[in-house]
Amino acid sequence: MTELTIFREEIREWLESSAPGALKGIGNNVLEGCWGGRNPIFPHPEQEEWLSLAAEKGLTAPTWPKKYGGAGLSDDEHKVFREEVSRLKLPAPLIGFGLTMIGPTLLRFGTDEQKAQHIPSIVKGRVRWCQGYSEPGAGSDLASLQTRAEVDGNDYIINGTKVWTSYADKSDWIFALVRTDPGAKKQEGITFLLIDMATPGISVSPILLISGSSPFCETYFEDVRVPRKNVVTEENAGWTVAKALLGHERSMIADAFGGAAEGKKAKTLPEMAKSYVYGGGGEVADAVLRDRIVQNEMDTAAFKYTVQRTRDAARAGQQPGAESSLFKVYGTELNQRRYDILMKIAGPQSLGWEGTGFEDEELGRTREWLRSRGNSIEGGTSEIQRNIIAKRVLGLPD
Ligand SMILES: Cc1cc2nc3c(=O)[nH]c(=O)nc-3n(C[C@H](O)[C@H](O)[C@H](O)COP(=O)(O)OP(=O)(O)OC[C@H]3O[C@@H](n4cnc5c(N)ncnc54)[C@H](O)[C@@H]3O)c2cc1C
Repeated sequence: MTELTIFREEIREWLESSAPGALKGIGNNVLEGCWGGRNPIFPHPEQEEWLSLAAEKGLTAPTWPKKYGGAGLSDDEHKVFREEVSRLKLPAPLIGFGLTMIGPTLLRFGTDEQKAQHIPSIVKGRVRWCQGYSEPGAGSDLASLQTRAEVDGNDYIINGTKVWTSYADKSDWIFALVRTDPGAKKQEGITFLLIDMATPGISVSPILLISGSSPFCETYFEDVRVPRKNVVTEENAGWTVAKALLGHERSMIADAFGGAAEGKKAKTLPEMAKSYVYGGGGEVADAVLRDRIVQNEMDTAAFKYTVQRTRDAARAGQQPGAESSLFKVYGTELNQRRYDILMKIAGPQSLGWEGTGFEDEELGRTREWLRSRGNSIEGGTSEIQRNIIAKRVLGLPD
């Protein structure tokens, strides 16, 4: 028996005997999972126990070093772990920007002190993080950001506004880009800073979306005092860290649409077609719609396997490069196409917002469709991804 087979048997036995039975079969919904934090919300009552069991073994962050609370699994062991979790259709014990964005960034760029302070609390799900990049005048052109950080002794004093900060109202810490040298070339005057959201002077104001929910906020900084030791790498060297983190963000978004989201609730296009538009002969009468459904099913499967293959091929410690933009743009546009087809299948039943005449599932789907419009904006718009692909992957001239 190989070491990997023994590992599979052990992990299978542990999952079968320890993971809460009520969670088996629920599947993984990347947006509705457990985000942890100082005031955690558990989408299922058993999720608290599942988080604590998994965190105890470092399995919330399977490949992170044991020294910081991770499980220290090799890539092959991690793949086995994912397969076994998926076999039982268990939700991830923990999700969030700590695991997917700032954790890997700190492991690469953080000081020993920063890693010791932040990585274990991410693994245990005790601190929830948000991302303070975008500003009212700096989205695609992120390097134009204006939030100022001025040195005052061992601290910075921060003033400015961030916008579209996802879950700022629920987060405990924020990783933010601030301008420390207004006189330098714009990319060279930026610093990457870790800020406790409980610091006096920070306030947040939720923004209501077209989908009816408020997943993000405006975040205001008014004379916020932050220790200089919270700088990741060096003052004015934040742009390199910022770009590396964006690689992780784009991989996370692509992952979410490449098979990581297999929630029990999500109906497939053929299932939807059976409910709404089956002809008497057992097929979808509208040939164009039939074609779109089949094409989307094939593209979804191909994308899922491509994401898996790429993930499996990645060597330990390898950082996502500009290629992550390919996956981000394809995965998000695929998801939008899927929602457009879902709307077409359900016809007038897609048009409900409230009131009678619509199932809850239909009302929910209308909101999900509206939410999917943001997929090609968040994490950098499709146009920006295509610019990156042209320049940095294909090597085309400006
Ligand atoms: C759901 C969601 C969650 C988000 N969460 C966060 C978060 O947690 N933290 C955070 O910091 N930000 C977050 N954002 C913000 C997001 O990163 C920005 O919205 C995005 O980068 C685009 O910036 P903008 O909205 O200012 O649009 P703009 O930059 O003003 O762009 C407007 C339009 O012009 C196009 N455009 C701009 N420049 C170019 C160019 N050079 N070439 C071609 N086309 C161009 C864009 O593609 C877009 O269509 C989130 C956004 C969404 C939708």
